[in-house]
Amino acid sequence: MKWEAYVKSPSFESFVEFAVSLSSFAEFLQGKGLSGLHRLSHNLEQQVLALFDAVDKHHVSQDTLDELQSRIEALSERVTEFMDSNGRSIDQRRAHPEAGLLAESIPSHRVWLICDHASQWQALTTRLAYFSIQTEVYPWEKVPDKAHEPSIVLLDTHGMSVKEVCRHIQTMRTRFAASKLIAHRLAADFNTLKAVLRAGCDYCFNDSTPQSTILAKIIELCSKDEEPPFRVLVVEDSPTASKSIQHTLRESGIESLAVMNPSDVLIGLRSFQPDLILMDMYMPDCTGVEATRVIRQHAEFLSTPVVYLSGDGDMALQVDALRLGGDHFLTKPFNPVFLNAVVKSKIERYRTLRRSMLRDGLTGLFNHRTIKERLAAAVTVTSNTHGRLAVAMIDIDHFKSVNDKYGHPMGDEVIRSLAWLLKQRLRKGDLVGRYGGEEFLVILPGSDAEQAFDVLDRIRRDFSQIRYSLEDGWFETTFSAGVSQYFASTNAEAMIKDADEALYDAKHSGRNCVVTRG
Ligand code: GH3
Ligand code: MG
Ligand code: MG
Ligand code: MG
Repeated sequence: MKWEAYVKSPSFESFVEFAVSLSSFAEFLQGKGLSGLHRLSHNLEQQVLALFDAVDKHHVSQDTLDELQSRIEALSERVTEFMDSNGRSIDQRRAHPEAGLLAESIPSHRVWLICDHASQWQALTTRLAYFSIQTEVYPWEKVPDKAHEPSIVLLDTHGMSVKEVCRHIQTMRTRFAASKLIAHRLAADFNTLKAVLRAGCDYCFNDSTPQSTILAKIIELCSKDEEPPFRVLVVEDSPTASKSIQHTLRESGIESLAVMNPSDVLIGLRSFQPDLILMDMYMPDCTGVEATRVIRQHAEFLSTPVVYLSGDGDMALQVDALRLGGDHFLTKPFNPVFLNAVVKSKIERYRTLRRSMLRDGLTGLFNHRTIKERLAAAVTVTSNTHGRLAVAMIDIDHFKSVNDKYGHPMGDEVIRSLAWLLKQRLRKGDLVGRYGGEEFLVILPGSDAEQAFDVLDRIRRDFSQIRYSLEDGWFETTFSAGVSQYFASTNAEAMIKDADEALYDAKHSGRNCVVTRG
């Protein structure tokens, strides 16, 4: 659409608009995990960005325009094809904006395993089934021609040459717009990886990668949490500049709040909780550096990234800003595609950092401190709203003997299995954290003890059926859980204590059961 507008009235501004919308479409595709489509749109975006200078100087040849035109058509054809093959009628498509509809067409969790020795993969496919991930196994010679797109294609490349592997991956990449391609049992050298990634592979594993790592990757890809939109606080005294920045951010799906007066910045930070601050360098009565200095006096905003918007380089001020932990400079007038790229990459880094602070490395669940904070917050909400709240404390049974008999790494796998199962089976508003080694705390807002019991008991039954394969057989484990619920008189500590006591009762009445208290 934006392309048509540019062709009709070619100007630098309309070209930039087109570039911004293309770039945010590419990012949308990436965010949704549509690897194949993202690859196409990304290549196109690169080509468009390389043309900025030429467009600015009105030096774009008709040949270049024609080539762009045909690549845009090719991309839009692939997108349409993808939506069609994923079962959306044309009427429905007309009724919805393109992006929303694409999101709905993403296939749910089916994995294709392409290999010549299915028996070697039996353990993996069984384990996936416990997490409701369905695997279809095909030998290399019998990959079906027509089929709905799977979410993951796992290729066992054992015994193939790099050339052959690349050829297969290219075929898959052309066929499947959204699927993640995982190649296993590759050679581990640089050139092999480079060639296979270039052919369109998403993840590469070599012969020494255990199947449990691949299982973890598949489950991670299938259980991607929905990320909330990025949020940016814009501190800028000029209403025109701040409107234009907010417009650019919005085009890219980023939420923003503008603050005109630097003295309002703390209020903005507290109310809006941004992931990043875009800070004007020059404002009346206060430079951007001074405002940042004030912000950094508050522990909760110590790590919020700050990107400065400045005019043409005042070196001294820029050095000052960098010393204060400024993250980046953008010079006005800014290039919108560049602004969005900088903002997004900084926010991604910031979120990754926060994630590692809030979450447990082995399971990806909230860590001990975070889950306790979340419980305190949930108790406050419940007491203010007179609602319901239940918690459950879970502990794996005889876990010491799992470690003793099968080794610590196998113990870790059991812990991860339970974490995945909990994440998958709990409802959207429920929260789960790793409270200790093999202990988990679950918060169920809106539930009473009886409802929590039902949820937990179902998970208990499913968990007890998971079989962990050994070289010569398999084993199973169980957990016990204690449930408590909120009363007007209790607080977070008391709820945990009650759940702990119920857990103790569960252990003493024979384990593999859920006991409620209150
Ligand atoms: P019970 O049924 O009474 O709970 O018996 P248990 O053997 O599970 O006893 P307990 O809960 O006290 O044991 C916890 C064990 O978990 C002790 C510790 O060695 C092990 N553990 C703690 N953290 C980890 C971990 O991260 N990985 C592994 N593999 N083991 C862990
Ligand atoms: Mg200014
Ligand atoms: Mg324990
Ligand atoms: Mg235990």
